[in-house]
Amino acid sequence: MNAIVQPAAYPSPEHDVMSHVRRTWGFDRLRPLQAEAIDAALAGRDALVVMPTGGGKSLCYQVPPLVSRRMSVVVSPLISLMKDQVDGLRACGYPAAALNSALSADERRETERQIASGQCRLLFVSPEKLLSDFFSGWLARFPVGHFAIDEAHCVSHWGHDFRPEYRQLRMIRDRFPSAAIHAFTATATRRVRDDVVAQLGLRDPCMLVGCFDRPNLAYRVIPRTRAVEQADAILRRHAKQASIVYCMTRKETDATAAELRGLGHRVAAYHAGMSAGDRRRVQDRFASEALDVVVATVAFGMGIDRSDVRCVIHASMPKSIEHYQQETGRAGRDGLEAECVLLYSAADVFRWEGLMTRSAVEAGAPDSVIQHHVALLRHMRDYCAPGRCRHRQLSEYFDQEYPRGNCGACDTCLAEHEEVGGATVLAQKILSCVCRVGERFGVRYVVDVLRGANTEAIRRNGHDRLSTYALLKGEDPRELTQVTYQLLDQGMLSRVGDDKPVVRLNEASWRVLRGQQEVRLWRSSSNVTLASQDAGDAWAGVDPGLFEALRDWRRETAVRRAVPAFVIFGDATLRELARRRPSSTASLLQISGIGERKQGEFGEELLRVIDALCREHGLTRDVPPENPAGGPRPRRTGPLPEVAARLFRKGWSVARVAEEMCRAESTVWGYLAEFAAREDAPLDPWIQAKTVARIEHEADRLGDQRLKPIHEALGGDVSYNEIRVVLRRRDKGAHEPRREERPGC
Ligand code: ADP
Ligand code: ZN
Repeated sequence: MNAIVQPAAYPSPEHDVMSHVRRTWGFDRLRPLQAEAIDAALAGRDALVVMPTGGGKSLCYQVPPLVSRRMSVVVSPLISLMKDQVDGLRACGYPAAALNSALSADERRETERQIASGQCRLLFVSPEKLLSDFFSGWLARFPVGHFAIDEAHCVSHWGHDFRPEYRQLRMIRDRFPSAAIHAFTATATRRVRDDVVAQLGLRDPCMLVGCFDRPNLAYRVIPRTRAVEQADAILRRHAKQASIVYCMTRKETDATAAELRGLGHRVAAYHAGMSAGDRRRVQDRFASEALDVVVATVAFGMGIDRSDVRCVIHASMPKSIEHYQQETGRAGRDGLEAECVLLYSAADVFRWEGLMTRSAVEAGAPDSVIQHHVALLRHMRDYCAPGRCRHRQLSEYFDQEYPRGNCGACDTCLAEHEEVGGATVLAQKILSCVCRVGERFGVRYVVDVLRGANTEAIRRNGHDRLSTYALLKGEDPRELTQVTYQLLDQGMLSRVGDDKPVVRLNEASWRVLRGQQEVRLWRSSSNVTLASQDAGDAWAGVDPGLFEALRDWRRETAVRRAVPAFVIFGDATLRELARRRPSSTASLLQISGIGERKQGEFGEELLRVIDALCREHGLTRDVPPENPAGGPRPRRTGPLPEVAARLFRKGWSVARVAEEMCRAESTVWGYLAEFAAREDAPLDPWIQAKTVARIEHEADRLGDQRLKPIHEALGGDVSYNEIRVVLRRRDKGAHEPRREERPGC
């Protein structure tokens, strides 16, 4: 620990960011804000970089040291991730290392040697490590150009995951006065951003706030009745793909994992109550694709870096939108389509309220902090209500305008909500039962009375003699519980008491009982279109057989090298290979995600896999990219993929388009609905004119735009898909998307 290395010439003679990006990662262009962040670091300027998960924050701190030839230090609380990050970089030929408590003495000495000799370009350290006087004193002898503070929201107690030790990172400013400091986070409201800047003492920082919307994610909120069965149905839409199911407690996590295993899923549980070794094993098996599903508490995620997670399910509501954004952020980090489903019941809200009040009292937190957390919870609850676009709500929560009329990728915009028929009468029955039992019992008891349960308590209270006893016999108790919580959510019923809460009537309840107020209730829908905004054509032209063969090759290679599969290649690269099917090592370099090192290392093996499958299936090779410049396909301005639109204009049937694009027919019906809303084409290639007329007639007669009543009025013989297409065309104009670009998007 003594050599002082002289700074390399700076700026480097080869001040060419793109040549490094191309050679090391094989990427053709930078994503929004990456160039700005890299330039700021190279100019020695502080920055706050806020980008959604998957936005590409890592590249912002990985590139500057290659250009400046001065080491960057990444401060990250995610020790379990560091090894994977270092492995991933080394696989690209990038000299990176980590220093944390998980290293052996030998490994630590070797890393220190690399730093001292100037070989290391990127060093990952934990906050605790950096805060040690001894270590930071030693590090200050070397020319550190730039510090990247990952998960910087941890510095603010207005955000989530507040960590007191993060505040001490302010010492970086004093110890390393000439280094630029960049704070990175995926979730930060304006208040958190300002706090991060102040707490870390950033100097005139460049504020780089990206677009929070994740267009490749489809969001849904579904009324929860039977969480495991619902999760099972959702996971089946993503068979053999990576998925995460979040539960609130360790006990629920274990139980849910066991049930899903019983239903045939390759699944494991993960929570903080497990030993470090067990947790590591689950992470490793998930990373090596030996597991498809992890059921976890929020403790999981801090340690995963699998970018091909296709589905994130919340079995209960998280306590803030920040948490929700962070946890759903783990879906689709590779930019490909993914689905996020929240199974919701207002019972979660009450549970959180109880937990928060108890833990705040125990911690002696001031009222203002408690109120702040209650306000975060209220925003989350508002998000769960039906009726508003989920993409819009999330963007607006983070102070960004959402420019699209219809996102095409949430349950609201896809009109999937199913209403409970006769909701007002059902609500009246529930409310009158609350009244009859004297407003002295909780939801479960009221439901028991309504369904005519034969319990000791009901007999003792003489409630089996009430007129509302067994009034809803035969109804599913879970559905009844769910709708009772919906009444609580909508303020048509009140809940009082902390220890043994009871439900009471309020003014709104009486309005409903007197027939002065209509009630709308929802049930979980089975009518799901798998669609997402921009990723709709992510499968276009991809040969599914070749993609699977490449995945098998990746899995075997990862096992052989004892690294996670994503360290070899991401799914986006495999899809590109299976679409363009390069025939030479030179043409491999044109594939996004293949840089020089990986071309040299894996090129021949890849060509062997591609050659064999293409020969067997008679596939053409060296298919040109969709846009000849070779860059990523252009961003769509609306939910409808142009590919599908082109084929519809030729009059192709839904089945034929689905086959051509390797998409499910249900997805293609979604594209057709958007096509119908945008273009004035007749619908007869897809729906018979007389069916169109019948649908329009019923929609006019009912004065209703909802699918289910129309479907029922037509006797159930016209599909939801056809109804949706016809309604979307009638809607034309009302939902026309505004076509301006978002700044930074
Ligand atoms: P974040 O840290 O913001 O969650 P990452 O840095 O992990 O996001 O990047 C997400 C994914 O996007 C990774 O698979 C990464 O390789 C890829 N990526 C990043 N920048 C680019 C780029 N300019 N072109 C193509 N892919 C990129
Ligand atoms: Zn929407």
